[in-house]
Amino acid sequence: MKKTLLFSALLATALGQAHAQSGLKPVINQAADAIESKVIAWRRDLHEHPELGNQEFRTAGIVAEHLKKLGYEVQEKIAVTGVVGVLKGGKPGPVVALRADMDGLPVTERVDVPFKSKVTTEFNNQKTGVMHACGHDSHVAILMGVAEVLASVKKDLAGTVKLIFQPAEEGVYTGGTFGANRMVEEGVLENPKVDAIFGLHINSQTEVGTIRYRPGATMAAVDQLTIKLKGKQTHGANPWSGVDPIVTASQIVMGLQTIVSRNVNITENPAVVTVGAIHGGIRYNIIPESLEMIGTIRTFGDEQQALVHRRIKEISNHIAESAGAKADVEIGIGYPATVNDPALTDKMIPTLEALAGKDKVLITPVATGAEDFSYFQKKIPGFFFFLGGMAKGKSPYDVAPHHTPDFYIDESGFTLGVKSLSHLVVDYMAMNAPQVSSPKTKKTAK
Ligand SMILES: [Zn+2]
Ligand SMILES: [Zn+2]
Repeated sequence: MKKTLLFSALLATALGQAHAQSGLKPVINQAADAIESKVIAWRRDLHEHPELGNQEFRTAGIVAEHLKKLGYEVQEKIAVTGVVGVLKGGKPGPVVALRADMDGLPVTERVDVPFKSKVTTEFNNQKTGVMHACGHDSHVAILMGVAEVLASVKKDLAGTVKLIFQPAEEGVYTGGTFGANRMVEEGVLENPKVDAIFGLHINSQTEVGTIRYRPGATMAAVDQLTIKLKGKQTHGANPWSGVDPIVTASQIVMGLQTIVSRNVNITENPAVVTVGAIHGGIRYNIIPESLEMIGTIRTFGDEQQALVHRRIKEISNHIAESAGAKADVEIGIGYPATVNDPALTDKMIPTLEALAGKDKVLITPVATGAEDFSYFQKKIPGFFFFLGGMAKGKSPYDVAPHHTPDFYIDESGFTLGVKSLSHLVVDYMAMNAPQVSSPKTKKTAK
Protein backbone atom coordinates (compact mmCIF):
# COMPACT_ATOMS: atom_id res chain seq x y z
CA MET A 1 0.00 0.00 0.00
CA LYS A 2 2.73 2.36 1.06
CA LYS A 3 4.74 1.34 -1.96
CA THR A 4 1.82 2.02 -4.27
CA LEU A 5 1.29 5.41 -2.74
CA LEU A 6 4.95 6.28 -3.08
CA PHE A 7 4.96 5.06 -6.67
CA SER A 8 1.87 7.13 -7.46
CA ALA A 9 3.49 10.15 -5.90
CA LEU A 10 6.65 9.65 -7.91
CA LEU A 11 4.70 9.14 -11.09
CA ALA A 12 2.65 12.24 -10.43
CA THR A 13 5.82 14.23 -9.80
CA ALA A 14 7.48 12.98 -12.97
CA LEU A 15 4.38 13.57 -15.05
CA GLY A 16 3.85 16.93 -13.43
CA GLN A 17 7.37 18.02 -14.31
CA ALA A 18 7.12 16.69 -17.85
CA HIS A 19 3.85 18.55 -18.21
CA ALA A 20 5.25 21.75 -16.72
CA GLN A 21 8.16 21.55 -19.15
CA SER A 22 6.05 20.90 -22.24
CA GLY A 23 3.85 23.78 -21.14
CA LEU A 24 6.90 25.95 -21.62
CA LYS A 25 6.98 25.42 -25.36
CA PRO A 26 4.31 27.96 -26.35
CA VAL A 27 6.12 30.54 -24.20
CA ILE A 28 9.43 29.60 -25.80
CA ASN A 29 7.97 29.76 -29.31
CA GLN A 30 6.52 33.18 -28.64
CA ALA A 31 9.82 34.45 -27.27
CA ALA A 32 11.72 32.99 -30.26
CA ASP A 33 9.33 34.61 -32.74
CA ALA A 34 9.63 37.92 -30.93
CA ILE A 35 13.42 38.07 -31.21
CA GLU A 36 13.75 36.92 -34.84
CA SER A 37 14.80 40.35 -36.08
CA LYS A 38 17.35 40.64 -33.27
CA VAL A 39 18.89 37.27 -34.16
CA ILE A 40 19.12 38.35 -37.80
CA ALA A 41 20.72 41.67 -36.81
CA TRP A 42 23.31 39.87 -34.64
CA ARG A 43 24.10 37.53 -37.49
CA ARG A 44 24.54 40.38 -40.00
CA ASP A 45 26.90 42.19 -37.65
CA LEU A 46 28.94 39.01 -37.11
CA HIS A 47 28.88 38.32 -40.84
CA GLU A 48 30.31 41.73 -41.60
CA HIS A 49 33.08 41.22 -39.02
CA PRO A 50 34.27 37.62 -39.38
CA GLU A 51 37.32 36.40 -37.47
CA LEU A 52 39.56 33.41 -38.12
CA GLY A 53 40.04 30.57 -35.64
CA ASN A 54 41.41 31.56 -32.22
CA GLN A 55 41.09 35.23 -33.19
CA GLU A 56 37.37 35.55 -32.40
CA PHE A 57 38.01 38.38 -29.93
CA ARG A 58 35.24 40.71 -31.10
CA THR A 59 32.73 37.87 -31.46
CA ALA A 60 33.58 36.48 -28.02
CA GLY A 61 33.21 39.95 -26.50
CA ILE A 62 29.72 40.38 -27.96
CA VAL A 63 28.68 36.93 -26.76
CA ALA A 64 30.07 37.39 -23.23
CA GLU A 65 28.40 40.78 -22.82
CA HIS A 66 25.07 39.39 -24.03
CA LEU A 67 25.22 36.42 -21.63
CA LYS A 68 26.19 38.57 -18.66
CA LYS A 69 23.29 40.93 -19.33
CA LEU A 70 20.94 37.95 -19.29
CA GLY A 71 22.21 36.79 -15.91
CA TYR A 72 24.37 33.87 -17.02
CA GLU A 73 27.51 32.92 -15.09
CA VAL A 74 30.11 33.59 -17.74
CA GLN A 75 33.60 32.18 -18.27
CA GLU A 76 35.80 33.69 -20.95
CA LYS A 77 39.06 32.87 -22.76
CA ILE A 78 38.48 29.12 -22.66
CA ALA A 79 40.60 27.44 -25.35
CA VAL A 80 41.86 30.95 -26.30
CA THR A 81 38.64 32.79 -27.18
CA GLY A 82 35.86 30.43 -26.07
CA VAL A 83 32.97 31.65 -23.95
CA VAL A 84 30.79 29.52 -21.66
CA GLY A 85 27.56 30.67 -20.05
CA VAL A 86 25.76 28.76 -17.31
CA LEU A 87 22.10 29.30 -16.45
CA LYS A 88 20.73 27.50 -13.40
CA GLY A 89 17.04 26.80 -13.75
CA GLY A 90 14.61 27.26 -10.86
CA LYS A 91 14.12 23.51 -10.45
CA PRO A 92 16.55 20.63 -10.07
CA GLY A 93 17.46 18.56 -13.10
CA PRO A 94 20.20 17.57 -15.54
CA VAL A 95 22.88 19.75 -17.10
CA VAL A 96 22.35 20.25 -20.83
CA ALA A 97 24.96 21.88 -23.06
CA LEU A 98 24.41 23.61 -26.39
CA ARG A 99 27.31 24.48 -28.64
CA ALA A 100 27.96 27.06 -31.36
CA ASP A 101 31.24 27.51 -33.22
CA MET A 102 32.39 31.06 -33.92
CA ASP A 103 35.15 31.14 -36.57
CA GLY A 104 35.21 32.33 -40.17
CA LEU A 105 37.36 31.21 -43.10
CA PRO A 106 40.04 32.66 -45.41
CA VAL A 107 37.57 33.14 -48.27
CA THR A 108 36.87 36.40 -50.12
CA GLU A 109 33.14 37.03 -50.14
CA ARG A 110 31.49 37.53 -53.53
CA VAL A 111 27.87 37.76 -52.33
CA ASP A 112 26.39 41.21 -52.83
CA VAL A 113 24.65 41.93 -49.52
CA PRO A 114 24.75 45.16 -47.48
CA PHE A 115 26.56 43.29 -44.68
CA LYS A 116 29.16 41.75 -46.98
CA SER A 117 32.53 41.13 -45.30
CA LYS A 118 35.28 43.54 -46.26
CA VAL A 119 37.77 42.03 -43.82
CA THR A 120 41.13 40.99 -45.27
CA THR A 121 44.11 39.25 -43.75
CA GLU A 122 47.29 37.40 -44.53
CA PHE A 123 46.91 33.63 -44.40
CA ASN A 124 49.63 31.11 -45.32
CA ASN A 125 51.59 34.04 -46.82
CA GLN A 126 48.69 34.97 -49.09
CA LYS A 127 46.46 38.01 -48.97
CA THR A 128 42.85 36.91 -48.62
CA GLY A 129 39.43 38.04 -47.56
CA VAL A 130 37.84 36.61 -44.42
CA MET A 131 34.27 35.34 -44.63
CA HIS A 132 31.73 33.41 -42.62
CA ALA A 133 31.68 30.92 -45.48
CA CYS A 134 30.51 28.01 -43.31
CA GLY A 135 27.69 29.84 -41.53
CA HIS A 136 29.16 29.89 -38.03
CA ASP A 137 27.83 33.47 -37.75
CA SER A 138 24.34 31.92 -37.90
CA HIS A 139 25.27 29.45 -35.15
CA VAL A 140 26.44 32.22 -32.81
CA ALA A 141 23.37 34.38 -33.48
CA ILE A 142 20.98 31.44 -33.04
CA LEU A 143 22.60 30.43 -29.73
CA MET A 144 22.51 34.05 -28.53
CA GLY A 145 18.79 33.89 -29.30
CA VAL A 146 18.44 30.63 -27.39
CA ALA A 147 20.29 32.24 -24.47
CA GLU A 148 17.69 34.99 -24.33
CA VAL A 149 14.70 32.65 -24.75
CA LEU A 150 15.86 30.26 -22.03
CA ALA A 151 16.75 33.10 -19.65
CA SER A 152 13.15 34.31 -19.97
CA VAL A 153 11.86 30.96 -18.62
CA LYS A 154 14.70 30.42 -16.14
CA LYS A 155 12.53 29.84 -13.07
CA ASP A 156 10.60 27.06 -14.84
CA LEU A 157 13.66 25.23 -16.15
CA ALA A 158 14.22 21.87 -14.45
CA GLY A 159 17.97 21.75 -14.76
CA THR A 160 20.99 23.75 -15.83
CA VAL A 161 21.87 25.03 -19.28
CA LYS A 162 25.48 25.40 -20.35
CA LEU A 163 26.05 27.38 -23.53
CA ILE A 164 29.38 26.73 -25.23
CA PHE A 165 30.65 29.26 -27.77
CA GLN A 166 33.63 27.54 -29.31
CA PRO A 167 36.55 28.94 -31.31
CA ALA A 168 38.50 27.44 -34.20
CA GLU A 169 36.21 24.67 -35.47
CA GLU A 170 37.82 25.04 -38.89
CA GLY A 171 41.27 24.44 -37.38
CA VAL A 172 44.38 26.53 -36.82
CA TYR A 173 47.86 26.21 -38.23
CA THR A 174 49.83 27.00 -35.12
CA GLY A 175 50.09 23.47 -33.75
CA GLY A 176 48.77 22.11 -30.46
CA THR A 177 45.18 21.35 -29.64
CA PHE A 178 42.43 23.82 -30.43
CA GLY A 179 38.67 24.23 -30.76
CA ALA A 180 36.35 21.65 -29.21
CA ASN A 181 39.24 19.34 -28.32
CA ARG A 182 40.94 22.06 -26.31
CA MET A 183 37.69 23.16 -24.67
CA VAL A 184 37.17 19.59 -23.45
CA GLU A 185 40.78 19.48 -22.21
CA GLU A 186 40.18 22.72 -20.33
CA GLY A 187 37.22 21.13 -18.56
CA VAL A 188 34.23 22.64 -20.35
CA LEU A 189 32.17 19.49 -19.73
CA GLU A 190 32.84 19.65 -15.96
CA ASN A 191 31.67 21.97 -13.16
CA PRO A 192 28.81 21.51 -13.58
CA LYS A 193 29.24 18.13 -15.24
CA VAL A 194 27.30 18.03 -18.52
CA ASP A 195 24.85 15.14 -19.08
CA ALA A 196 24.16 15.66 -22.79
CA ILE A 197 25.10 18.08 -25.54
CA PHE A 198 23.24 19.32 -28.62
CA GLY A 199 24.50 21.27 -31.60
CA LEU A 200 23.39 22.25 -35.07
CA HIS A 201 24.98 23.25 -38.35
CA ILE A 202 23.20 25.54 -40.77
CA ASN A 203 23.23 24.13 -44.30
CA SER A 204 23.22 26.21 -47.48
CA GLN A 205 21.87 23.31 -49.54
CA THR A 206 18.97 22.28 -47.29
CA GLU A 207 15.68 24.14 -47.62
CA VAL A 208 14.57 26.46 -44.83
CA GLY A 209 12.18 24.65 -42.48
CA THR A 210 13.90 21.30 -42.97
CA ILE A 211 16.07 19.47 -40.45
CA ARG A 212 18.43 16.67 -41.44
CA TYR A 213 20.09 14.22 -39.08
CA ARG A 214 21.56 10.75 -38.89
CA PRO A 215 21.66 8.32 -35.97
CA GLY A 216 25.18 6.99 -35.32
CA ALA A 217 28.11 8.00 -37.54
CA THR A 218 27.17 11.22 -39.31
CA MET A 219 30.36 12.98 -40.32
CA ALA A 220 33.77 11.50 -40.99
CA ALA A 221 36.95 11.21 -39.00
CA VAL A 222 39.62 13.10 -40.93
CA ASP A 223 43.27 12.08 -40.86
CA GLN A 224 46.21 13.38 -42.85
CA LEU A 225 48.52 11.08 -44.75
CA THR A 226 52.18 11.71 -45.61
CA ILE A 227 54.31 9.11 -47.39
CA LYS A 228 58.01 9.83 -47.95
CA LEU A 229 59.57 7.52 -50.50
CA LYS A 230 63.30 7.04 -50.84
CA GLY A 231 64.79 5.37 -53.91
CA LYS A 232 68.14 5.81 -55.63
CA GLN A 233 68.84 8.66 -57.99
CA THR A 234 70.05 7.94 -61.50
CA HIS A 235 70.16 9.23 -65.08
CA GLY A 236 66.77 9.06 -66.73
CA ALA A 237 68.39 7.17 -69.58
CA ASN A 238 69.71 4.41 -67.26
CA PRO A 239 66.83 3.55 -64.92
CA TRP A 240 68.35 0.17 -64.16
CA SER A 241 71.13 1.90 -62.21
CA GLY A 242 68.75 3.34 -59.64
CA VAL A 243 65.48 2.83 -57.75
CA ASP A 244 62.71 4.96 -59.24
CA PRO A 245 60.47 6.50 -56.54
CA ILE A 246 58.09 7.86 -59.21
CA VAL A 247 57.16 4.42 -60.54
CA THR A 248 56.97 3.15 -56.96
CA ALA A 249 54.68 6.04 -55.95
CA SER A 250 52.43 5.27 -58.92
CA GLN A 251 52.10 1.66 -57.74
CA ILE A 252 51.37 2.82 -54.21
CA VAL A 253 48.66 5.21 -55.41
CA MET A 254 47.00 2.35 -57.28
CA GLY A 255 47.51 -0.03 -54.35
CA LEU A 256 45.80 2.41 -51.98
CA GLN A 257 42.66 2.26 -54.17
CA THR A 258 42.15 -1.35 -53.11
CA ILE A 259 41.64 -0.36 -49.45
CA VAL A 260 38.20 1.07 -50.13
CA SER A 261 37.34 -1.37 -52.92
CA ARG A 262 38.67 -4.55 -51.27
CA ASN A 263 39.19 -4.09 -47.50
CA VAL A 264 36.46 -1.79 -46.22
CA ASN A 265 32.97 -3.17 -45.69
CA ILE A 266 31.25 -0.45 -47.69
CA THR A 267 27.81 -1.85 -46.85
CA GLU A 268 28.35 -0.54 -43.30
CA ASN A 269 30.06 2.76 -43.93
CA PRO A 270 31.98 4.34 -46.79
CA ALA A 271 35.61 5.43 -46.50
CA VAL A 272 37.85 7.67 -48.57
CA VAL A 273 41.59 7.52 -49.22
CA THR A 274 42.74 10.40 -51.43
CA VAL A 275 46.28 11.25 -52.50
CA GLY A 276 46.14 15.00 -53.02
CA ALA A 277 49.70 15.83 -54.05
CA ILE A 278 52.93 14.17 -55.18
CA HIS A 279 56.07 16.21 -55.04
CA GLY A 280 59.25 14.82 -56.61
CA GLY A 281 61.70 15.24 -59.42
CA ILE A 282 63.27 18.28 -61.08
CA ARG A 283 64.19 17.46 -64.68
CA TYR A 284 62.95 15.28 -67.54
CA ASN A 285 66.04 13.09 -67.61
CA ILE A 286 66.76 12.67 -63.91
CA ILE A 287 65.14 9.94 -61.83
CA PRO A 288 65.01 11.58 -58.39
CA GLU A 289 66.19 10.09 -55.14
CA SER A 290 63.00 10.71 -53.20
CA LEU A 291 59.50 12.10 -53.28
CA GLU A 292 56.66 12.93 -50.96
CA MET A 293 52.94 12.19 -51.26
CA ILE A 294 50.24 13.76 -49.12
CA GLY A 295 46.59 12.89 -48.83
CA THR A 296 43.48 12.71 -46.70
CA ILE A 297 41.67 9.77 -45.08
CA ARG A 298 37.96 9.79 -44.15
CA THR A 299 36.45 7.04 -41.99
CA PHE A 300 33.34 6.59 -39.80
CA GLY A 301 34.34 4.55 -36.76
CA ASP A 302 37.31 3.51 -34.66
CA GLU A 303 37.55 -0.01 -36.07
CA GLN A 304 37.27 1.11 -39.67
CA GLN A 305 39.81 3.85 -39.04
CA ALA A 306 42.32 1.37 -37.58
CA LEU A 307 41.82 -0.97 -40.54
CA VAL A 308 42.36 1.77 -43.14
CA HIS A 309 45.46 3.08 -41.35
CA ARG A 310 46.94 -0.41 -41.09
CA ARG A 311 46.32 -1.18 -44.78
CA ILE A 312 47.86 2.14 -45.90
CA LYS A 313 51.03 1.24 -44.02
CA GLU A 314 51.15 -2.36 -45.24
CA ILE A 315 50.53 -1.47 -48.87
CA SER A 316 52.99 1.44 -48.90
CA ASN A 317 55.75 -0.39 -47.07
CA HIS A 318 55.50 -3.62 -49.03
CA ILE A 319 55.21 -2.02 -52.48
CA ALA A 320 58.21 0.16 -51.64
CA GLU A 321 60.13 -2.87 -50.41
CA SER A 322 59.31 -4.83 -53.57
CA ALA A 323 60.84 -1.99 -55.60
CA GLY A 324 63.92 -1.69 -53.42
CA ALA A 325 62.73 1.66 -52.09
CA LYS A 326 61.82 2.70 -48.57
CA ALA A 327 58.50 4.20 -47.51
CA ASP A 328 58.08 6.30 -44.42
CA VAL A 329 54.34 6.54 -43.67
CA GLU A 330 53.02 9.13 -41.24
CA ILE A 331 49.35 9.53 -40.38
CA GLY A 332 48.36 12.68 -38.56
CA ILE A 333 45.20 12.12 -36.51
CA GLY A 334 42.55 14.76 -37.05
CA TYR A 335 38.95 15.12 -35.86
CA PRO A 336 37.21 11.89 -34.82
CA ALA A 337 33.96 10.85 -36.51
CA THR A 338 30.86 12.79 -35.46
CA VAL A 339 28.71 10.04 -33.98
CA ASN A 340 25.20 10.77 -32.75
CA ASP A 341 24.43 8.70 -29.66
CA PRO A 342 21.73 6.32 -30.99
CA ALA A 343 19.67 6.25 -27.76
CA LEU A 344 19.77 10.03 -27.34
CA THR A 345 18.93 10.54 -31.02
CA ASP A 346 15.96 8.18 -30.74
CA LYS A 347 14.68 10.02 -27.68
CA MET A 348 15.07 13.51 -29.11
CA ILE A 349 13.82 13.12 -32.69
CA PRO A 350 10.13 13.31 -31.66
CA THR A 351 10.91 16.77 -30.22
CA LEU A 352 12.16 18.00 -33.60
CA GLU A 353 9.34 16.24 -35.47
CA ALA A 354 6.71 17.84 -33.25
CA LEU A 355 8.26 21.23 -33.92
CA ALA A 356 9.13 21.13 -37.63
CA GLY A 357 6.64 18.48 -38.83
CA LYS A 358 7.44 14.82 -39.40
CA ASP A 359 7.94 15.30 -43.14
CA LYS A 360 10.49 18.05 -42.50
CA VAL A 361 12.81 16.00 -40.30
CA LEU A 362 14.78 13.79 -42.66
CA ILE A 363 17.54 11.24 -42.35
CA THR A 364 20.60 12.42 -44.25
CA PRO A 365 23.37 10.34 -45.83
CA VAL A 366 26.75 10.32 -44.08
CA ALA A 367 28.91 13.33 -44.90
CA THR A 368 32.61 12.84 -45.64
CA GLY A 369 33.35 16.27 -44.20
CA ALA A 370 34.37 16.51 -40.54
CA GLU A 371 33.18 18.49 -37.52
CA ASP A 372 34.92 18.84 -34.17
CA PHE A 373 31.63 18.56 -32.25
CA SER A 374 32.85 14.93 -32.21
CA TYR A 375 35.22 15.72 -29.32
CA PHE A 376 32.25 16.46 -27.05
CA GLN A 377 30.51 13.29 -28.24
CA LYS A 378 33.60 11.22 -27.39
CA LYS A 379 33.02 12.18 -23.73
CA ILE A 380 29.25 12.41 -23.33
CA PRO A 381 26.11 11.56 -25.37
CA GLY A 382 25.64 14.19 -28.03
CA PHE A 383 23.28 14.90 -30.91
CA PHE A 384 24.21 17.08 -33.88
CA PHE A 385 21.85 17.99 -36.72
CA PHE A 386 21.65 20.13 -39.84
CA LEU A 387 19.31 23.11 -40.13
CA GLY A 388 17.96 24.32 -43.48
CA GLY A 389 19.42 27.62 -44.67
CA MET A 390 18.53 27.54 -48.38
CA ALA A 391 15.75 29.80 -49.67
CA LYS A 392 12.52 27.92 -50.39
CA GLY A 393 12.12 26.82 -54.01
CA LYS A 394 15.86 26.76 -54.79
CA SER A 395 17.66 23.63 -55.87
CA PRO A 396 20.61 22.38 -53.80
CA TYR A 397 22.44 21.87 -57.10
CA ASP A 398 22.21 25.56 -58.01
CA VAL A 399 23.29 27.14 -54.73
CA ALA A 400 26.84 27.60 -53.47
CA PRO A 401 28.24 24.98 -51.10
CA HIS A 402 29.99 25.80 -47.83
CA HIS A 403 33.54 27.25 -47.91
CA THR A 404 32.97 29.08 -51.24
CA PRO A 405 32.86 32.84 -52.05
CA ASP A 406 29.18 32.65 -53.09
CA PHE A 407 28.02 30.83 -49.93
CA TYR A 408 24.68 32.28 -48.88
CA ILE A 409 22.30 31.61 -46.01
CA ASP A 410 18.58 32.44 -45.97
CA GLU A 411 17.94 33.94 -42.56
CA SER A 412 14.30 32.89 -42.39
CA GLY A 413 15.51 29.52 -41.10
CA PHE A 414 17.01 30.91 -37.89
CA THR A 415 13.89 30.87 -35.74
CA LEU A 416 13.47 27.14 -36.27
CA GLY A 417 17.06 26.83 -35.04
CA VAL A 418 16.31 28.84 -31.88
CA LYS A 419 13.18 26.80 -31.19
CA SER A 420 14.87 23.45 -31.96
CA LEU A 421 17.68 23.93 -29.47
CA SER A 422 15.34 25.36 -26.81
CA HIS A 423 12.84 22.49 -27.22
CA LEU A 424 15.62 19.91 -27.03
CA VAL A 425 16.72 21.44 -23.73
CA VAL A 426 13.30 21.46 -22.07
CA ASP A 427 12.35 18.01 -23.36
CA TYR A 428 15.67 16.52 -22.26
CA MET A 429 15.15 18.09 -18.84
CA ALA A 430 11.61 16.71 -18.63
CA MET A 431 12.80 13.22 -19.58
CA ASN A 432 15.62 13.31 -17.04
CA ALA A 433 13.94 15.08 -14.16
CA PRO A 434 14.89 13.73 -10.74
CA GLN A 435 12.74 10.75 -9.76
CA VAL A 436 12.38 11.59 -6.07
CA SER A 437 10.65 14.77 -5.04
CA SER A 438 11.52 14.75 -1.29
CA PRO A 439 13.30 18.01 -0.43
CA LYS A 440 15.62 16.04 1.90
CA THR A 441 16.95 13.92 -0.95
CA LYS A 442 20.44 15.02 -1.94
CA LYS A 443 20.68 15.40 -5.67
CA THR A 444 23.82 14.97 -7.62
CA ALA A 445 24.11 15.52 -11.34
CA LYS A 446 24.93 12.33 -13.13
ZN1 LIG B 1 33.29 24.56 -42.43
ZN1 LIG C 1 31.12 24.59 -40.18
